[in-house]
Amino acid sequence: MSINILNSQRNDIKDDESLKQLGFIELAKKKVAALEKELGRKPTACVVTFGCQMNARDSEKLLATLKLAGYEEVETEDADFVIYNTCTVRDNADQRVYGRLGQCSNHKKNNPHMKIAICGCLMQEPGAVEKIQKSYRFVDLIFGTHNIYKFAELLNSCLDSDRMIIDIWKETDRIVEDLPVLRKYAFKSGVNIMFGCDNYCTYCIVPYVRGRERSRSPKDIVREIEKLAADGVKEVMLLGQNVNSYGFDFKDGDSDKISFAKLLEMVCEVEGIERVRFMTPHPKDFSDDVIDVIAGNPKIARHIHLPLQAGNNEVLRRMNRKYTKEQFIDLALKIRERIPDVAITTDIIVGFPGEGEAEVDDTIDVIKKVQFDNAFTFIYSKRAGTPAAKFEDQVPEEEVKKNFDKLLKVVQDTARDQASKHQGKVETVLVESVNEQDESLLTGRMSNNTLVHFKGEKDLIGEMVRVSLDECHGFYYMGSRV
Ligand code: SF4
Repeated sequence: MSINILNSQRNDIKDDESLKQLGFIELAKKKVAALEKELGRKPTACVVTFGCQMNARDSEKLLATLKLAGYEEVETEDADFVIYNTCTVRDNADQRVYGRLGQCSNHKKNNPHMKIAICGCLMQEPGAVEKIQKSYRFVDLIFGTHNIYKFAELLNSCLDSDRMIIDIWKETDRIVEDLPVLRKYAFKSGVNIMFGCDNYCTYCIVPYVRGRERSRSPKDIVREIEKLAADGVKEVMLLGQNVNSYGFDFKDGDSDKISFAKLLEMVCEVEGIERVRFMTPHPKDFSDDVIDVIAGNPKIARHIHLPLQAGNNEVLRRMNRKYTKEQFIDLALKIRERIPDVAITTDIIVGFPGEGEAEVDDTIDVIKKVQFDNAFTFIYSKRAGTPAAKFEDQVPEEEVKKNFDKLLKVVQDTARDQASKHQGKVETVLVESVNEQDESLLTGRMSNNTLVHFKGEKDLIGEMVRVSLDECHGFYYMGSRV
């Protein structure tokens, strides 16, 4: 990664806590330099990320701290400092972390200087920390989601100590601005606009591990995006668990209290920003003013990810989703009418307690009516500590599998039909990379998030180019520059 670390200069920084952490990075630098001398080579660091885009953004901050401290980034887990940024939304994500940790202990046996850290959502579950204390005693540092901003401080303590350091906070109302961040891409970046979630869907662990909703000040968000634009970023993705409840937590009369629609407008006005995405909105809060702003502003991506989760009203009620099947369909069709070129994608859970074939047929009915451009389908994963885990009518695995396969077929057929609609059009594509399979091709993304591969030179990476969509191959296009 050849791009600069944003916010690593003291004069960029307005938040005292961030300045304090920069001081800890200076201290860590001395310790990493001493290690370099002892090893006779530059110490290496590897950040392993599980889960969602919020975690990916957090990992960019962890990596920036490690690089500023003097580590060289590597992709392999035999590094001198390995950190796992964990997810706990699904049970298999937990199991994967424990599997990787087990393998990592072998590397540590060969490298006495190695440090292993683990952070993120899974660490906010008390059972998980106990398990690591008991069965993975070789771990050096454990921290959670609420104090990730003090990673530089924790890194110092970890480099000083041979004992396991555990620092988990139950909650926080703090948002620390201006932490250093190393972006994965030079031309696009995620931007957190809020943290936490107040919705308490009954299957979801997020509100327990990420805390209550906290919105960033619009001034801080715009300031960050202006810096990103000055640094060459063309596309931003506004991130939050529930972006369209942005600002609900500000007090009435507070000058920061603006709506998500207004924030979208402000972000579009930042010079240099050519495309604005957001992830994830909640259908219950998707108001008409947001639809109007998207419809009237071509900079806002023609892609809305609108999680349905289920299409049966009783299942939706028991999930605590706070909308009905009919309300969801009305909203999606209204969006399609007002923004005709929009792609609507969704998340669907199959196998929620009490969901039999008839209930899944309701979900299939929604898929057919809304014609989703794509859907991420998941088998319900029982998460200890959530209300749904205690529901008695858990569905047998075989029945879930049968319903899942039936639903998946409809999702795939619908998505294929939707994708082929663009054949022959000319679209603006943000070029992201050289194609992994064929180096003569570039890969870019349309405003509606569809991937396009076309012939071109790699100096076009990061540019917006016009591409004709020649051949639809299911979920992507082969195109040519015009
Ligand atoms: S909206 Fe529901 S599913 Fe999404 S993070 Fe919040 S509780 Fe979880």
